Amino acid sequence: MNSDEFLIDYYDTIQDRRVVSNVAPGYLRKLLPPGPPHEGEKWEDIQKDIESKIMPGLTHWQSPNFMAFFPASATYPSMLGELYSAAFTAPAFNWLCSPAVTELETTVLDWMARLMNLPACFLSDGEGGGVIQGSASEAIVTVMVAARERYLDMACEGRQGEEREMKKADVRGRMVALGSEQSHSSTAKAAIIAGVRYMSIPCRMDDDLALTGAGLQKVLDECKQQGLIPFYLTTTLGTTATCATDRFEEIKEVAKDWPDMWIHVDAAYAGGALVCEEYQHLTEHLEAFDSFDMNMHKWLLTNFDASCLYIKRRRNLTDALSITPSYLRNDFSDSGLVTDYRDWQIPLGRRFRSLKIWFVLRTYGVEGLKAHIRNHICLGERFHSWVLGRQDLFRVVNPPAFALTVLTVVPRAGGKMEVDAGGASRPGVSDGLAKDGVPKTEDQGLVAANRITKEVYELINSRGEIFLTSGVVNSVYTIRIVSANPKADEQHLRKAFDILVATAEEVLDRLGEGGRTLTNDVGGH
Ligand code: PLP
Repeated sequence: MNSDEFLIDYYDTIQDRRVVSNVAPGYLRKLLPPGPPHEGEKWEDIQKDIESKIMPGLTHWQSPNFMAFFPASATYPSMLGELYSAAFTAPAFNWLCSPAVTELETTVLDWMARLMNLPACFLSDGEGGGVIQGSASEAIVTVMVAARERYLDMACEGRQGEEREMKKADVRGRMVALGSEQSHSSTAKAAIIAGVRYMSIPCRMDDDLALTGAGLQKVLDECKQQGLIPFYLTTTLGTTATCATDRFEEIKEVAKDWPDMWIHVDAAYAGGALVCEEYQHLTEHLEAFDSFDMNMHKWLLTNFDASCLYIKRRRNLTDALSITPSYLRNDFSDSGLVTDYRDWQIPLGRRFRSLKIWFVLRTYGVEGLKAHIRNHICLGERFHSWVLGRQDLFRVVNPPAFALTVLTVVPRAGGKMEVDAGGASRPGVSDGLAKDGVPKTEDQGLVAANRITKEVYELINSRGEIFLTSGVVNSVYTIRIVSANPKADEQHLRKAFDILVATAEEVLDRLGEGGRTLTNDVGGH
């Protein structure tokens, strides 16, 4: 079998493989020789080792039985884009390095911005524009540095030399980046990299875990009282834990009094849904914000990596990140007529990633992308309705959002569960996770319920038929199920649901044996 046949066969039979790898740590070192061969080997021998040595250590993200994290879809057109990109390899850091690399990137990112109904300020024909980053996290680090430099430039305006440096150091020590409790951890990490403080803003179940204007206002007031400078905020369209969307209109209103605070919209996964008209109202207030990022490599059929970052004022990026030693100078760059994407990102070199986006957009067309998103929204809602049909076993934590369902297992013995779909009740106060990964809380009924949900989750993943992720939402241990995989259809979701039901019943039956009650189990672990 040659390589392309091998890969096609892998895709055709992927659902028959155990979805999550169960090798022991260090398995591969034992299978490989201590060093590379002295002489080159035949390709057949190398390829054989893919099946025997690499496959056992793969978790099959492209399997329709993979319903963990968020999807990382790959399709043949995007793989071909990757192959062509490798064949044309050129670390095209400036326009002259390969004009097509820059120009195709600008073009397809403008196409995508229009497709997602982003405000015109993010298009390249004005002051803004898009750039492909490796990941949503990288995008956040990049814009946070641009935000920091923009703020420092403004705060130190008119000062020179030592006086400027002293002022910068003083201001820098008080700068704080904000995110919500539900923001992805990449914002906290970016703050570490950017050398600034990080503060998270509480979110309430009653607000469906969205960041609200009132929540933001409260933290901004606290910052002011403490002499801190909130210079950056991440808002989210589709949070990782529950796919909540922050209240953009309220945030926009509050931010009017904080015009120097950079606001970034992290739409890493759910931003893909913006290609469908029925989601485009979500972009209504985004012209008030500074940057926006969506990963084509999650839901939009393009293999990792293809994170589309849009900036309202590209000068903010280039002012912060442009350093031009003599060997990078050329007449085209000096003319100011071309884009040098090296100044829009952290590394110098870059790959030809726009090719795969171009191939995907042309192969599927706008209608094909919409159909893919709508199909999975519909499947997600169907799954959600099956879960609602078994309220004896499950409770849904959030309304169906972007094909994600988040649930907990309901204890039979009447152990207290403090989450409900309407968010009316309050979970106990959490002070983090206990050693076993279950949230610490004073509510013993909740502790028991959390342990049951965790047990169900771990049993399912250990059996390897499907792969799910867990999460903790306001002290509640949850199971997340999201498919959105191009190879998944209703039968795969139904199978996942049946496994969930059978495993929950198995665990609950076992716990009910011998008159043991759940509350008696508390502390017994
Ligand atoms: N933001 C959100 C909302 C996410 O869900 C994720 C990952 O799932 C990220 C950021 C990080 O994405 P990446 O792996 O592209 O850095």
